[in-house]
Amino acid sequence: MALADELCALQAETLAGIEAAADTAALDQVRISVLGKSGSLTAYLRNMGQVPKEQRAEVGKTLNEVRQAIEQALEARKNTLATAELEAAIDAAAVDVTLPGRSQQMGTRHLINRITDEISEVFLGLGYSVATGPEVETDYYNFEALNAPADHPSRSMQDTFYVHDLSGDASTVRGESDVLLRTQTSGVQVHAMEDQEPPIYVIAPGKVYRRDVADPSHLPQFTQIEGLVVDKGITFGDLKGTLDFFCKQMFGPDRKTRFRAHYFPFTEPSAEVDVSCGICHGEGCRFCKGTGWLEILGCGMVDSNVLRYSGIDPEVYSGFAFGVGVERVACLKYNVPDLRMLLEGDMRFLRQF
Ligand SMILES: [Zn+2]
Repeated sequence: MALADELCALQAETLAGIEAAADTAALDQVRISVLGKSGSLTAYLRNMGQVPKEQRAEVGKTLNEVRQAIEQALEARKNTLATAELEAAIDAAAVDVTLPGRSQQMGTRHLINRITDEISEVFLGLGYSVATGPEVETDYYNFEALNAPADHPSRSMQDTFYVHDLSGDASTVRGESDVLLRTQTSGVQVHAMEDQEPPIYVIAPGKVYRRDVADPSHLPQFTQIEGLVVDKGITFGDLKGTLDFFCKQMFGPDRKTRFRAHYFPFTEPSAEVDVSCGICHGEGCRFCKGTGWLEILGCGMVDSNVLRYSGIDPEVYSGFAFGVGVERVACLKYNVPDLRMLLEGDMRFLRQF
């Protein structure tokens, strides 16, 4: 029978084609040419209607057998080719596990932030809370409420960055804008006194700005921590005890402190605090310029005018305030000779801490 021979030839030809297919794409071409919509075997299946009735069952059976044989061969070849292709892909993307890895550099906290936290923790341990305020401040909070009126030398134009008001209708001080970058964090103390009733025990850490040229002991932007206590019966003895405790916590229990009379507009009396030199232990050396002492902070009893400005009765309450430069403490603690080294971002320097 001619049809049976034709199908037999088709099967043999297709199986040979399947075996010869070099990859899954070529194999798919074979499948489409035989079993696809216009495939050669599909044509026979479609023309079953023209087969004489008495032969139909026989032809149908043969067609099915041919189709099954082809499908099985396709499936088997497809598995073989897919496995080979996967192995080739894995080989191509091979990772050399003997290569050394790329190490990630671990970051550390910057020394300025670490010292800020260390100082804050000493005072948090004493029951103080942390207050923050704006870095762009008005003249009132930076100077006037701190007892530094318009003609006061501490607010000289050389020291302060003024922010010019572009709208042109702001009130001005001496023809200048009254908006500025704060030169001290003391303004936060004024906000604290306005916002809460005594007793007040706060520290205010933050950035401050001055029109200084950077040199070994000056930076145009540095970090300050100011503290304020307002309560009943606060004396200079409380101030001395608190700051002596602070210096011993920061620099070690063997360090001594001394208080030298000084002048600040917002405190009366005022003092500067020195801590004994950690290198020569008070003998005098180059680091302490032969004095045996290192200047560390400024402080004093809050001036009664400052209390009154903020609506606190100086007959009832008294208090003290202090301010310490974080960069200076960092340099003194780690014997860093130049403040600018803290800001240069040199990892060889910073990674030591
Ligand atoms: Zn010394």
